[in-house]
Amino acid sequence: MSLRDDIKAISGQDVMLCFQCGECSSSCQMAGYKGFSPAKLIHSIQLGMEDVLRSRIYELCLHCFLCSVRCPQGLSFPDIATALSNITVRRYGPGKIEKMFLDEITNKGFLNPATFALKTFGFSLPKYAGLKGLKAAPIIFERGNVRRELVEEVRRVAREG
Ligand code: SF4
Ligand code: SF4
Repeated sequence: MSLRDDIKAISGQDVMLCFQCGECSSSCQMAGYKGFSPAKLIHSIQLGMEDVLRSRIYELCLHCFLCSVRCPQGLSFPDIATALSNITVRRYGPGKIEKMFLDEITNKGFLNPATFALKTFGFSLPKYAGLKGLKAAPIIFERGNVRRELVEEVRRVAREG
């Protein structure tokens, strides 16, 4: 199955509908960062270039959905990015971000979206915030709020898939 057929089967998104108007990329807050561009990525998929999987550049999409509400063809890039992520894991195994995600939920039983997002960009929360006192916050939060049974349940789901 070609990459574009795989994407369609998983997400229902037909990348061949894209006519490269560029509206998505001009709306995207991540466009230009490390060469990321939703329109360019879709074009590569249309051309059958499968190296977008190994590069994992689609992981830069923040899933804000701004591009999808503006796309004249009704395409949803975040859904395409999610499909690409699924296909990459299936073909090549989990990457750095998927491993971080699994570590986070199997160790803590939950995902803190704010700290996880910072970690994926290589920031530590105290360094990013510039406040030493914030170092204590994740520890207090973890010790005070995590229910052991929830952690065990998440580990069980991760183990059994
Ligand atoms: S806005 Fe839609 S049609 Fe235009 S380039 Fe982006 S995905 Fe393609
Ligand atoms: S959903 Fe992703 S690709 Fe679309 S505008 Fe937001 S960050 Fe950019």
